[in-house]
This record gives sequence, structure tokens and C-alpha cells, in this order.
Amino acid sequence: MTTILPGQTIGIIGGGQLGRMMGLAAKEAGFRIAVLDPIEDSPCGQIADIRIVADYDDEHALQELAQVSDVITYEFENIDYEGLKKLAETAHVPQGAELVRITQNRMNEKAEINTSGAPVANYVTAHTFEELEANIGQVGFPCIVKTAFGGYDGKGQVKVDTLEQLEEARTFFEHSTCIAEAFVPFVKEISVIIQRNAEGQSYCLPVAENIHKDHILHESIVPARIDEAIIKKAEEAAGKIANHLELVGTLAVEMFVLEDGNIVINELAPRPHNSGHYSIEACNVSQFHQHIRAICGWPLRKPRLWASSIMVNVLGEHVEPLQEMLVHYPEWSVHMYGKAEAKEKRKMGHVTIMTDDIDTTLEEIKTSNVWFNK
Ligand code: AMP
Repeated sequence: MTTILPGQTIGIIGGGQLGRMMGLAAKEAGFRIAVLDPIEDSPCGQIADIRIVADYDDEHALQELAQVSDVITYEFENIDYEGLKKLAETAHVPQGAELVRITQNRMNEKAEINTSGAPVANYVTAHTFEELEANIGQVGFPCIVKTAFGGYDGKGQVKVDTLEQLEEARTFFEHSTCIAEAFVPFVKEISVIIQRNAEGQSYCLPVAENIHKDHILHESIVPARIDEAIIKKAEEAAGKIANHLELVGTLAVEMFVLEDGNIVINELAPRPHNSGHYSIEACNVSQFHQHIRAICGWPLRKPRLWASSIMVNVLGEHVEPLQEMLVHYPEWSVHMYGKAEAKEKRKMGHVTIMTDDIDTTLEEIKTSNVWFNK
């Protein structure tokens, strides 16, 4: 296991908020940061020592990043797989490229989760609309049709209740192959962030309970309000997937909890995750610090939760009310990502609140009038 030490340079592909928070964690220890992003003033660019301004799949730019970096990581999965694979042949990319190939495509992702032995919803794959129509009977209704590529925050997916309604998924095939999976009547959504180093040492962060609004994460509540037995199942499933994929770095595993206490894996993200931001304040090791430890070949730290906490996302429409209200809430840890334009629904920042009383704090969030219900 190659060890990367403070003073050396970590290269990050992608300059968004995840890159920024990775970079900030690394800079605390004295690492230097190089970032590749098409925007000069990107969230990570603002805190980086070296900025390479180019597209993520620009081969020359990737080479340039490799030249100035001692280790390379990425902050999101929608980067060019071939480019990353080529880079990994000459540069130190401890996470490799395989995980990106798998998680970029829901078909591959589902197949790998299945092979790992972790539970997934019953599903079929389809390359054409006609294939979907022919095979949908194996899944039944209601189901959810999802594009295999490029969907996020609920985009590129539709819930289908009848054969006639399947028609709504026809246009998806213009951009991508698809999967159709059984609708899971879940009672809660949770996520497990598992982190692993090249020696196979791994830890899960405390499990988060996730509340979405309009398909975008709104709140993460930690610890998730579920039985210890379900937490165990969730961690075991994440462990199976991480070992099967020979994970190095971070894997976020989103799951559904069923009424009977069983879990079903929804999807994977091969990077720090929005639902793990609470760990910056609430744990003895944040998801970003642990990610840096993993890719730098350091031993991992066993995570501990200092206090229950709630993380709330700050979207474009929440920025102004937050600026007005934050002076009234000294317990709110405010993180803004330095994005120039506060567009509606755009993730601009988040707030973490450590608390002894989750219900009172949930109420405080509601009555603050920052996250108004539109
Ligand atoms: P995804 O983009 O796959 O994370 O899906 C976004 C959201 O859609 C999830 O957080 C769920 O709330 C919902 N969803 C996705 N797949 C299913 C499913 N098979 N059954 C029920 N709800 C789902």
C-alpha cells in the first residue's frame, strides 16, 4: 500500500462541493490539492493549490493532473471511464476505474449487487422499448423504469402502474438503455457509507435516515430511527458489496427499509455522499477525512458519533431565507459551497445540527421558515 503524506499533492477530478469538502479535509493535514474542473472558480477550485481548467475527459488535462499529483481521486462517478482507466495505468489511482464503470450504469450496478449477495428489487433490463414491453411481466406493476445512464435526483425515471402507462418510458430509450424494477413499498430510506483501504480494512459510518423532497435529499437524520437489527443487516449488506467490489475509498449504499424489517439496496455512489455530510461535525472522523485516509494508504479510524444530528440541504431557494435566519440559530453549522448562482433546486450548501432531541430539532427546522414548503 503506497502511503501518501502531508506535503504531497492530491489530485481531484471534479470541482464541486464533494471535491471541496475532500480538499478542505486534506488541507487540514497539510496536503496540497490540485483540481480538474471546467470552471476556474469551482467550489473546489476556490480552495485548491493548483487548478486545471478543462473538461473531465480531456486527455491532456488528465495527464497534466497526473504530473502535479501524487495520488488521484474523483468526486463523482460520471467521468469518462476509458480516460480514468488509461490514467490509472500511469498515475496512482488507488480506487481504480472499475468501480466507476460499474456505478455509471444501473445494469452493471444491479448485477454486481446481486452477485455480492446483497438484496435488490426484482428487475429486468431492456435495450429497446419493445424489449421492455415484452419482459415487463417478469416484474409486474407498479414498477419504476430508470435509464441505465445519467439519471440522478429522480431524473430519468418514472413510476408505472399499468401497461398503457409504460408508454411514458418510451423516450428514455433515445438516450439510454433502461432497467425496470419492482416498486418497493418502503417505510424508510437509509444510507450506509462504507470506506475501505487497499489492505481491506473497512468501517461504516453511522447509518443515516434520509428524507427526500421532490426526489432531492432534504434531511438526513443520524442515527437512523430503526432497530439495531436492521442497522446490522444494512451494514452487513454494505460490507458484502464493498468486499465484492474490492472497494478502495468510499461507497455510499442507498437502501430501502421494508415494513418487516428487511432491506433492499437501491443504488450505489462510489464517493462521499450528501447523506454523510453530518459526519463533519458529528463524528470523530468525517467521510471526507476517512476518504483521504483510505486513498492515501493510511489506517482507517473507527467512526464514533458524538451526538445525534440532522443535516438539511440548502437549495437555491433556501439561500436568502437562510442568510436572514442563521443569526438566530447558534447551533446550526452552516456550510456554503461557494457556488455563484443560487438556482432553484441547486445544492448550494447544507446545515448540520447536533442535538439531544431529534423531534424538537425537526420542529425547529420546520418553524425556522428557511425550508418553506413550496
Ligand atoms: P434513485 O435515483 O434510484 O435513487 O431513485 C430516487 C428515489 O425514487 C428514491 O430515493 C426513492 O424514493 C424512489 N425510488 C427509486 N426506486 C424505487 C423503487 N424500486 N421503489 C420505490 N421507490 C423507488
